[in-house]
Amino acid sequence: ILLEQCRRMSQKAQKYQVSIEHNIEKSLYVWVDQEIVIRIFLNLIDNAIKYNRPNGKVEVSTKQEDGKIRIFIKDTGIGIPSEQWERVFEPFYIVHEERSKETGGSGLGLSLVKEWVTQQRGTIEILESSDQGTCFLLTFPRFDLDHEHIHLTKEDRN
Ligand code: ATP
Ligand code: MG
Repeated sequence: ILLEQCRRMSQKAQKYQVSIEHNIEKSLYVWVDQEIVIRIFLNLIDNAIKYNRPNGKVEVSTKQEDGKIRIFIKDTGIGIPSEQWERVFEPFYIVHEERSKETGGSGLGLSLVKEWVTQQRGTIEILESSDQGTCFLLTFPRFDLDHEHIHLTKEDRN
């Protein structure tokens, strides 16, 4: 699905003269709602395109580590000052007023993303951001069949 969303955004990327690159591992299993995870990717890739520069780049990559799946969405855009890293996840918070007017942003995207990610037992953070660009990190627990699970429908006996 991640790859599909990259492709889906390629037209918008072209319009902004931004190229999308991806380096995504093949078998990544997460236990998340597909519709919601699609919305998360679309919002983050949309931002990475909108707040980029002409001839800029968006890089989507993944990494599996200690039972977690990490997804990096990195751009070569205008960046977010570090004192505002927390606040961009607040509803209606806009860092770049001018740019948002041009691109029609409402400042809601990231607050919804944060909500969706949390709801899917993931986390989202800004790894780095400067005038050279921004890297968002998404983390989800890896879906593991061996993992201890609770049998919800088992009858209780007392
Ligand atoms: P919407 O997503 O509702 O269309 P938006 O993109 O303006 O509007 P958010 O996605 O919530 O809103 O982002 C909040 C603000 O954070 C943006 O207005 C922008 O200033 C800044 N921002 C978000 N992503 C990036 C990024 N990748 N690079 C630089 N700034 C960003
Ligand atoms: Mg947005």
